[in-house]
Amino acid sequence: MSLLIQNARLIDPSQSWDGPASLLVVDGLVAEAGTVLTDPRAAQAEVVDANGKLLVPGLIDLHVHFREPGQTAKENIESGCRAAVAGGFTAVCAMANTKPVNDSVAITEQMLTRARKADLCRYFPLGTLTKGAAGEELTDFGTLKASGCIAFSDDGLPVMNAAIMRRALEYTGWLDLPVVAHEEDVNLAAKGYINEGATSYYLGCLGIPAAAEEAMVARDIILAEHTGGHLHLAHLSTKGSLRLVREAKARGLKVTCEVTPHHFALTDKEMTRFDSNFKMNPPLRTQSDLDALLEALADGTVDAIATDHAPHTWDDKECELRDAAFGIIGLETALPLTLSLLVDTKVITLSRAIELLTWGPAKAFHLDRQGLGSLKPGSAADFTLVDLDARITVDRAFVQSRSFNTPFKGWSLPGKVLGTWVAGRQVWG
Ligand SMILES: [Zn+2]
Repeated sequence: MSLLIQNARLIDPSQSWDGPASLLVVDGLVAEAGTVLTDPRAAQAEVVDANGKLLVPGLIDLHVHFREPGQTAKENIESGCRAAVAGGFTAVCAMANTKPVNDSVAITEQMLTRARKADLCRYFPLGTLTKGAAGEELTDFGTLKASGCIAFSDDGLPVMNAAIMRRALEYTGWLDLPVVAHEEDVNLAAKGYINEGATSYYLGCLGIPAAAEEAMVARDIILAEHTGGHLHLAHLSTKGSLRLVREAKARGLKVTCEVTPHHFALTDKEMTRFDSNFKMNPPLRTQSDLDALLEALADGTVDAIATDHAPHTWDDKECELRDAAFGIIGLETALPLTLSLLVDTKVITLSRAIELLTWGPAKAFHLDRQGLGSLKPGSAADFTLVDLDARITVDRAFVQSRSFNTPFKGWSLPGKVLGTWVAGRQVWG
């Protein structure tokens, strides 16, 4: 089985390629990519003409919530994977805060079976750090790794006990897997539900201070240094957090981080709408935080753009702002928002944007070792074809997710995914 994508503009940050190219796929792997192909198998391949459109390695999302098992009215693994490939993603890393949480081989295997049945994108489960995500007793990292978990996290909840976090970083360090931290000091955050600052005072809403995130980021960087473990910081949202990561990286610590499109797209000013589609955790922050995110995306402090795709039903969201669920969907808007708000505005180059969605996340979770995030010869033939000139509109018909909790309703954005291929097989478009 061979496939030849001809006449594309290839951007592959893993090999600093930006230019015209063809791509030859044989048996699910990249055989050759470049301007002139020498592999004789190209002559027998099925040909797809890319018409000069943008060809990139398949996008990789380090942070999704697919709600299965337990809350499949919001999303299931199949609908989540369909939203992923529609958004140009060929690999997703699924958080463990399902019901029940993924703290066992049985749940991991159930998830992987469901993902194999969906047969759309690659699906990598995370295991919880602690049993029941209760923050008290570590899970069996070795067994979970053997059954397919690629990282560990109690995401949705922070690990408040520093001794537990210390041991987690030690043991996962031996297994060479990252700990993914949702950084939120629950005592500082208390019952807050929007950013603490001028807007929360004005609206009379309880706020979550930036310090709730930053204090935990600081603590865990210290623990990462102490243990030598790999700390991956999820959905960073504040100026202070990014400063801490920049310093940690400069000191050579094993610290990586991600930011979400909503945190670089919106600020807490939006909360004057009292629309729960703008309510997420961490909350939308201030313009000064947003500016710091842009700087960190540009200067290399940020490793990956991740969606924190968090589907919720109408009922979960359609209530008092205080009572509404935290989180929004994001798989299908991530690339268009990145193109619109980072590339068209010249905050970063198109190549850097693609790096943040492919090679960056692949390296952060060591998926590069499985041939992901790159189109070098021998890599997995996971790729996405994008029309940069076509625009999409975020409406119900556009979104494949079971849920439609997005603050970007009605937005018109650049970047239409024309097709998505996993292991050389077209799964979308
Ligand atoms: Zn989280």
